[in-house]
Amino acid sequence: MNVIIVGIGLIGGSMARDLRCKYPEVSIYGMDASASHLEEAIRLQLIDGIASSKEFSEADIVIVSIPVDAIVKELPKLLDLIGDDSLVIDAGSTKSEICSIVADHPKRRNFLACHPIAGTEFSGPSAAISGLFKGKTNIICEVEKTAFKLQERALNIFSGLGMRIRYMNPEAHDRHIAYVSHLSHISSFMLGKTVIEKEKNERDIFDMAGSGFESTVRLAKSSPAMWTPIFKQNKENVVETLDEYIQNLEAFKQKLIDNNFEGIYKEMDNTNKIKAILKGIPQNNKDR
Ligand code: NAP
Repeated sequence: MNVIIVGIGLIGGSMARDLRCKYPEVSIYGMDASASHLEEAIRLQLIDGIASSKEFSEADIVIVSIPVDAIVKELPKLLDLIGDDSLVIDAGSTKSEICSIVADHPKRRNFLACHPIAGTEFSGPSAAISGLFKGKTNIICEVEKTAFKLQERALNIFSGLGMRIRYMNPEAHDRHIAYVSHLSHISSFMLGKTVIEKEKNERDIFDMAGSGFESTVRLAKSSPAMWTPIFKQNKENVVETLDEYIQNLEAFKQKLIDNNFEGIYKEMDNTNKIKAILKGIPQNNKDR
C-alpha cells in the first residue's frame, strides 16, 4: 500500500505509526511545510522519504493532516495531483468550508471528509503516538460524494486503526464540535490567561496547581497556529456557544452574589450527570 501524509505532525505521524504496525509492507512518503519536521519524521521512521509528484500519482491513500486554513488552500491542488484511483482523506477539525471548497472539483469522488476525534495538546512529529485512534470516533461527512470503492478502502483502514465511524453532514459536525471541542479549548485558554494575569509570580502557580487545575488547563498548551484557523472557520457556531457559556458564568456569579447556595448546589448536582453521559448511559428526556 502506498501512503502519502501531507502534514507529518501529531495526527499524520500517529496515523503513520499505526499504519506501519497494521500493514508492515506499507510505504509512506511525507510532505510538510517544515523541512525540520520532515527530517525528524524520517529519523523517527514515520515516513520512508519525501513525496514527489510520482508518489502522488501512484498513491493508494493521501492523508491531509495540516491546519484547516492550509487544507482549504492545498486540498484542490492535491486532488489535481493524484491518480484516478487514489483516495484523499483529511483530518481537519472543521468540515463545512473544507467540503464546500472541493464541492465542484472534478476529482470530488476521490475525497473523503473526515475528523478523527482523537488528539493531544502537543504538535509535530515528535508528538506522534501509537494507538491514538484506537476506540475513538471518526466523523465522516458527505460519504455519498465519495466513490463507493474508495469509501470501502477508507473504512477498511479506519477499522484497522480501531476507529468507530459516525456519519454527519458538515454543518451538523461544525455545530456539535463547537460545543464539545472548540468551546472547551477557549475555556481552557481563558482559564490559563485569567490565572497567569492574576498570579504574576509563576512559581506560585506552579507550587499551588493541583491536578484539577492542571487537567482543566491542559488544552491551553495547544498550538495557536492550529486553533486560530479553526475558530475563524467555525466563528458563527463558536460565538453562539460562547454566548451560552457566558450566560451560564454570569448566572453562577449572580447566585454567589445573592448567597443563593441552594441554587449553586442544584446547578452542580444537575451538571454531575455529565459522568453518566460520558459513560454512554442514556438519560431520561425529562432530566435533559
Ligand atoms: P501539527 O502537529 O501541528 O502538524 C501539522 C503539520 O503540518 C506541521 O508539521 C506543519 O508545519 C505542517 N503544515 C502546516 N501548513 C502546511 C502546508 N500548507 N503544507 C504542508 N504542511 C503544512 O498538527 P496536528 O495536531 O497533527 O493537526 C493536523 C490536523 O488535524 C489539523 O487540521 C487539525 O485541525 C486536525 N486535528 C487535530 C487534532 C489534535 O488534537 N491535534 C485532533 C483531530 C484533528 P509547521 O509546524 O511548520 O506549520
